[in-house]
Amino acid sequence: MNLVVQKYGGSSVADTDKILNVAKRVSKKIRSGMKVVVVVSAMGKTTDNLIKEAKKINKKPNDRELDMLLTTGEQVSAALLSMALQKHKIKSKSLNAYQAGINTIGRFTEAKIQNFDNKKILSFLNEYSALVVTGFQGINKQGELTTLGRGGSDTSAVALAASLNAECEIYSDVDGIYTVDPKLYPKAKKLNYITYDEMLELSAHGAKVLHFRAVEIAKKFNLPVYCASSFNGKKGSYVVSEDKIIEKSVVTGLTALKNQTRVFIKNLPKDYSVVRKIFSKVALAGLNVDMISLIESEQNITLSFSVVDEKKTRLEKMLKSLLKNLAGWEVIYETGLVKISIVGIGMKSETGVAAKYFDALKDIPIKLVTTSEIKISCLIDEKYQETAVNSLAKKFKL
Ligand code: ASP
Ligand code: MG
Repeated sequence: MNLVVQKYGGSSVADTDKILNVAKRVSKKIRSGMKVVVVVSAMGKTTDNLIKEAKKINKKPNDRELDMLLTTGEQVSAALLSMALQKHKIKSKSLNAYQAGINTIGRFTEAKIQNFDNKKILSFLNEYSALVVTGFQGINKQGELTTLGRGGSDTSAVALAASLNAECEIYSDVDGIYTVDPKLYPKAKKLNYITYDEMLELSAHGAKVLHFRAVEIAKKFNLPVYCASSFNGKKGSYVVSEDKIIEKSVVTGLTALKNQTRVFIKNLPKDYSVVRKIFSKVALAGLNVDMISLIESEQNITLSFSVVDEKKTRLEKMLKSLLKNLAGWEVIYETGLVKISIVGIGMKSETGVAAKYFDALKDIPIKLVTTSEIKISCLIDEKYQETAVNSLAKKFKL
């Protein structure tokens, strides 16, 4: 069976006209001899709006109820798209996560797909040419509806494609993967190919084209993912394994991730059990720490790291109580910073990338730096973002 999984994002199904447009595209594919499993997001800003409504009732809504609410969004678009396909005389059926067999583990609002029972879909495909599946949701062991985190319908699509041994196409309002988000740098170039590892770094550092987990699963199953626009026929971009890429550029992409806080702890005693305690408490509180730097002097330790702005209050409370019996320390919080990262597999073999990177940022005060084999990131004040992006993009010909 020639099978393709196509995912359509929120903006591609934002209203009934757009849903009819998607139905046209899907029926064309079917007329060319394929069967299509369509994964849909909620219409337009539905998910945002549902969250707003929930917060009017309770500022911190219960996660289980929130998932119960948010999963309705995808059910609406799935049913409407299936109706639109039937209008085109396509045998189509919409399925929610329970009906499609998508099983999850983990917490509400951030569950993970554990497995996908493809027997149900495979048997439906004997009878139907199109199945429209709700993205973003799954059923846990207790039979509860769970969501996969914002942007999670990409992950639903990739998991389905991997398990059904199908091709995977992700459609949205952008026509592919760019070196830099064109909203930040209008001269950015579209990439024909990008590797899983590069895309993982970009997704983790602010690129919104693909959900991080989706790239992880694609990499695990070596599944090429095609990203393109649902609004035109322009050629999109492929996310593939490294051996499929002939021309490896040193730097493939750049991202800017806002709302970062630098936590700067001065005058800690030279006692590493304190440092250990800080990080284990931070981990217990479920706070994700990034970009760690530790400087040891003769007398004491200076520790800095970054967290997202919204975690600052929680962290502040925790540090106060943890360090209350120690003297002399001081914590400085700087919020509203931005993390600028450049990513490229070519960095593994090329020297001098860091030199070029810091040269491009020469007039900008840098707060923290981290690197990996294929990435360099720094934290800077948001007011320098534009200068940094422009200067790096020019330097690395992005
Ligand atoms: N509707 C969900 C969201 O807005 C899932 C998705 O679009 O991928 O996050
Ligand atoms: Mg999305």
